[in-house]
Amino acid sequence: MSKFLRVRCDCGEDMVVYGDSKTAVYCEKCGNLVAEPRGGRAVINCRIIEVLS
Ligand SMILES: [Zn+2]
Repeated sequence: MSKFLRVRCDCGEDMVVYGDSKTAVYCEKCGNLVAEPRGGRAVINCRIIEVLS
């Protein structure tokens, strides 16, 4: 999924992550792990609210 995703953490913070991110992404606000790389693509651990093209 080579797209940018707008996701919303459980704390309510929105952020944009890359669907093929090779690095773990943490919420800037609460430090929750929101995306982790697995098998070349990111596994999203929170709600995806929008897929950006
Ligand atoms: Zn958060």
